[in-house]
Amino acid sequence: MQTIIQQVQSALGGEPGLVLGYLLLGLLFVQVVLSATSAARRLAHEREQQRLARERLQNLVRAAQATCREAEEITLGWNGVRKFTVAEKIRECEDVFSFRLVPHDRKPLPAFKPGQYLTFSLEIPGRDKPVVRCYSLSDSPGQSGHYRVTIKREPPPPDRAEVPPGVASSYFAGNVKAGDILNVKAPTGHFYLDMNKVTPIVLLAGGVGVTPMLSMAKAVAESGSKREVWFFFGCRSGAEHMLRADMEALAKYSNIRVEVCYSRPAPNEVQGRDYQHVGRVTVELLKKLLPANNFEYFMCGNGAFMKTLNDGLEAWGVPEKDIHYEAFGPATVKKTAAPAIAAPVGSGPAPKITFAKSGKSVDWNPALANLLDFAREQGVRIDSGCCAGSCGSCVVAIKSGGVDYLKAPDAPPEDGSCLTCICKPKGDLVLDA
Ligand SMILES: Cc1cc2nc3c(=O)[nH]c(=O)nc-3n(C[C@H](O)[C@H](O)[C@H](O)COP(=O)(O)OP(=O)(O)OC[C@H]3O[C@@H](n4cnc5c(N)ncnc54)[C@H](O)[C@@H]3O)c2cc1C
Repeated sequence: MQTIIQQVQSALGGEPGLVLGYLLLGLLFVQVVLSATSAARRLAHEREQQRLARERLQNLVRAAQATCREAEEITLGWNGVRKFTVAEKIRECEDVFSFRLVPHDRKPLPAFKPGQYLTFSLEIPGRDKPVVRCYSLSDSPGQSGHYRVTIKREPPPPDRAEVPPGVASSYFAGNVKAGDILNVKAPTGHFYLDMNKVTPIVLLAGGVGVTPMLSMAKAVAESGSKREVWFFFGCRSGAEHMLRADMEALAKYSNIRVEVCYSRPAPNEVQGRDYQHVGRVTVELLKKLLPANNFEYFMCGNGAFMKTLNDGLEAWGVPEKDIHYEAFGPATVKKTAAPAIAAPVGSGPAPKITFAKSGKSVDWNPALANLLDFAREQGVRIDSGCCAGSCGSCVVAIKSGGVDYLKAPDAPPEDGSCLTCICKPKGDLVLDA
């Protein structure tokens, strides 16, 4: 210190007063800088506290709003079918149409949970019974006054060109028009996004499986929540890129990333403008883009799409509890479903299945997916709808014996009955069919 003072003193021409003055000025400057820094730190800390308090308050308000919505939903819900008028039919892309539905009675509608579906009971000319099918709500629950569903015409399976295309989806695509009145059951389903949570989510959609995913992403966007959302959509090309405007609108939110994959883009389609990635939605793509694997994953698409992604996610270390999926048909995704039903059926003689009303008693065929398929194979008529344990059309009373479910039913049947589309026999079984 002494040396520094001496050096400064000699630099200033040996003036001790001047040196002291400069030193005091220096000390004063340091003091000012220190107090300014600490004031700035204090201010930043206070601002952060205020921001956290604001965020806590917003979360509380959102939770309260959600509770109110749930209470409202219970009051506004309905039992059985309600008449809805088709207010608008919109062609989304090749073979896919959206339908905006308003209640015929013009009374308010319950808000649904994003991911839930409507069940339609369609009176199709030439059919002796209503055709029951489920369709996910494709808009956000915030759109009061109407519901929207988006339906793809189901073609015959690729290897069965001789069979007719899907009954209900063809009817929607070809016959249903604005002004028609449809019978609709209230929104339901266990596959939905919990809007009270803030966990970051990844939404994986293949083709028309985008419907519940879009509802979830739009719900987050419109709630004002800053929840992190990664939205992946896969289709072949722009010709199948349904609900494109909705996806483009989502991409404008800073907390929502939209990644569109075309597996066979058309020559005039531009990467970066029309789509982001060439190829399918894969776990390899997720590994490349996501910062880590600790998200909650929701997926919907065809059986192969979901199986591949589910297996890839599990191999990547994503816990099973964080993977949620919706099957639009009889597809199963979880490996765990198999052992529960395989053990009793595989060991020992095949169980005897008796269809009491039809007077048939036959050995169970373990190659078949479920009791509904087995009944069909035996020429026993059981009504069916969604083939996914959702609509309840295939319910049959059990006279004796028991069943194992491949997946939990959306609405469990009454005691002593079973949903034949999603169960197999535990052992010998007598059905009232
Ligand atoms: C919870 C849930 C939500 C859903 N959400 C949507 C949605 O948002 N959008 C959507 O488009 N779909 C959705 N679905 C699927 C929808 O419910 C129907 O399953 C779908 O539209 C097909 O019904 P369909 O009556 O047109 O076909 P079906 O008549 O049931 O036929 C299904 C398939 O079987 C074929 N087939 C017909 N006869 C034979 C035969 N003899 N042998 C072999 N094959 C045959 C048909 O060609 C067709 O490919 C959802 C399903 C569920 C369970």
